[in-house]
Formats: sequence, structure tokens, C-alpha cells
Amino acid sequence: MFSHLGLSSQALQGVKGMGYTEPTPIQLRAIPLVLEGRDVIGSAQTGTGKTAAFALPIITKLGEHAPSPRALILEPTRELAAQVETAFRDLARFTNLRVTVVYGGVGYGRQREALERGVDVLVATPGRLLDHLGQGTCRLDQVQFLVLDEADRMLDMGFLPDVRRILDKCPRQRHTSLFSATIPVEIETLIQWAMKNPQTVEIGARRMPAETVRHVVYPVSDDQKSDLLRALLAEVNYDSVLIFCRTKHRADRVAHMLKQNNHAVAVLHSNRTQREREQALDGFRNGRYEVLVATDIAARGLDITVVSHVINYDVPQHPEDYVHRIGRTGRAQATGDAFTIMVAEDRPHVAAIERFISQSIPRVKLESFTYKYTSLFDDNPRDTSREVSRGARGVRLHGGYFFGPARRKRR
Ligand code: AMP
Repeated sequence: MFSHLGLSSQALQGVKGMGYTEPTPIQLRAIPLVLEGRDVIGSAQTGTGKTAAFALPIITKLGEHAPSPRALILEPTRELAAQVETAFRDLARFTNLRVTVVYGGVGYGRQREALERGVDVLVATPGRLLDHLGQGTCRLDQVQFLVLDEADRMLDMGFLPDVRRILDKCPRQRHTSLFSATIPVEIETLIQWAMKNPQTVEIGARRMPAETVRHVVYPVSDDQKSDLLRALLAEVNYDSVLIFCRTKHRADRVAHMLKQNNHAVAVLHSNRTQREREQALDGFRNGRYEVLVATDIAARGLDITVVSHVINYDVPQHPEDYVHRIGRTGRAQATGDAFTIMVAEDRPHVAAIERFISQSIPRVKLESFTYKYTSLFDDNPRDTSREVSRGARGVRLHGGYFFGPARRKRR
């Protein structure tokens, strides 16, 4: 129960307003620690409720409005920053605390005005925050709570030097929390440098994707990838699909192809303007688009709750990215499907993913699809094409595993 965790009545009202009834595991464990003033390392996937896990105790501790930022939340991408600001603002709406966000890609004017008016909680991406610090529009000398969110992605994006420069401008006497799905050695070093005697809260096995996700690999020859994607979308009853591509260019190409196929498609990658990205996300969330094609960086950690299917059009090169990508489906106990299209040269990457998640992923042929030969099928001990039974959606390459009935379409 939230009411036993030591949160302020205003924070509890915020929880109620959001419709949360029971705390998630990370909230149960992290909230009391932050309230006690401990530094916390949260090793948790996105979708676990980690935003409220750090926001609620901070809201409780900050109490009343004061002019200088006393909580700083660093995020790797603008989308995440905007999302966390919204969640924070919603949870704090029964207080007089002010929450604002600063990120790049938009003008400085409004951000400067908000900072001048005085904020309690500042959510920021590192580059733009450094700009504001350089221009003297923002100071961090009153910061008591620092949150480094998605620290592993911060590392991947080369932000750690910026993060260190920002930390140098915060008081040494502060409480620091760090959230990261994985803790590579560079993050360990950052932890030792930036945190004091931190307590680790690990939710589930660090590397494990949600247990409710069904993983399937679709082997195919390279020149049939886009045909297979179209066939998959035609075959599967999906509510909403998130498709991952390796590059912005490929994302654009796939989106264009699907649009021509009469799918309602939006694209999300870092070459799009902030406005375009917001429109894409809002449209996807409210159902105007049934398909969102994205690159890893753009989609990292986004709170898109209704994804029924994640399709890896390109196999991720880093196993961690697989876990991040499919973190968008199978959230909050709902089941989801994660499909990965695999061509011959992807084989080692898929093997690395299987090792990383300690799970082998079934190879499946799509029943309705006319395959060209690919050496991938040579792995197959028997010719399974004859095993296909009517009404089944696919057949597992190593034996008679049939795809269960998929969910109904929303429309
Ligand atoms: P996060 O991991 O912070 O991105 O949260 C993932 C999703 O879970 C968001 O949509 C939250 O609003 C939602 N959420 C967070 N905490 C709870 C809770 N205790 N009960 C139900 N939903 C929650």
C-alpha cells in the first residue's frame, strides 16, 4: 500500500490522481530508501514504475516551493525528459512545487522564462542544461536530489563527460539516485565517483525482458525482408506495432513502404523536428497511427503503454538494445509479442541476444509467405514446410509449435 511508505499526503493524492492502487516492486523498495536519505541504484527496466519511484519521495522531501532548483533529473533524450516531466508534474499537482524541463532542439526563450520564475524540479538533457549553466540562466548550487536516469543510455550516447561537468556544479552534500537497466564498468566508475554508499535495488534479473513477452525469430533472405514485414503485418492481429530499424534512413524507407501499403504510420528518429516527434508519439498513443517506425535512440524508454507487438526489422547490434526495444511490449502484466526478422548475417547477433537473455528464441516460418531459399533454413533438421497446418499462423522450424491466436484488432 502506498499509504505505508511514508509519503506526504499531497504525494499520496498525486498517486490517487494517477489511478495507481498498489506500488510496483521498485516503488516498494526504492521509496523508503530515498525517504531515508540513502543514495539508490535502481537496476530496473523501463515500464517498472521507476519514475514514480524517484518522483514520489522527492516530492515528499521538497515539501513547499522555493526559488532555486532543489531536484535535478538528467535524461538522455528529449522524449524521455518530456515524459518524466509530465509524470512528475502529474504526481506533484497537489503541491505548489514547480516542475520544468529543458532540452535541445527548441528555442531558449520559454525555458529561460520558466527558470527565471523559479523551479523546484528541473528535468533536463545534459547538453541543453550545460548551455543554460553557461549562459547563467540556471544554477545548481541548491540541488539536494539528483537523479541520473537511464545512465547506460547516457553512456551509449557519449554524455558521461557532460554528466560529470554537471555533477561538478551540484553541491557535494546531496542525495543521488541512478537508474540503469545494465551497469557496465563505466557506470560503476561513475557510481564510485558520484554516489555515497549507495544501496542497490534490483528488480528481477537485470538482463531479463518481461516474462510476459513472447519472442519469435523469423528467418528470411535479405531481399525478402520488406515482403516478410508486410506479410507479417497482414497476418497478425495487432493493436499497435513498434518497428525498429537500424538507421534513420531505413526507418524512413520502411515507413514509406508501409504507408504505400495503407498502414497508418508515424516515424520517430532524431532527424525529425521536435514537433514532428511529438506529433508522431501523440498520434501513436491515441491510436491515429497503428504503426510507429523508430530508431533505438529515439524510442529508448518511451512510455508507450499499448504496444501489442514489437518488430525488429533490423536485429539490434547490441543485446542490451534488444531488451530495451522489447521493453515496450508485455508491460504491466499484459502479454506482448516481440518479432525479430533475421537474415543470414544476423545469426551471430541473434545468438548473442539469446545468450544475453539466457533464453533460446524459436525460429518460425510464416505459413502464408512464399519463401525464397536462405541458408538459414539449412539449420533446420527437417523440411518443415509440410508440417504447416491449416488455421495456424506459423510453424516453428524445429518441431510443431504453432502460433496461438493473436489478439483482436482495435479497429
Ligand atoms: P515507468 O517505468 O516510470 O516509465 O512507468 C511505466 C508505466 O507504469 C507508466 O505508464 C506509469 O504511469 C505506470 N505506473 C507507474 N507506477 C504505477 C503503479 N504503482 N500502478 C500502476 N501503474 C503504474
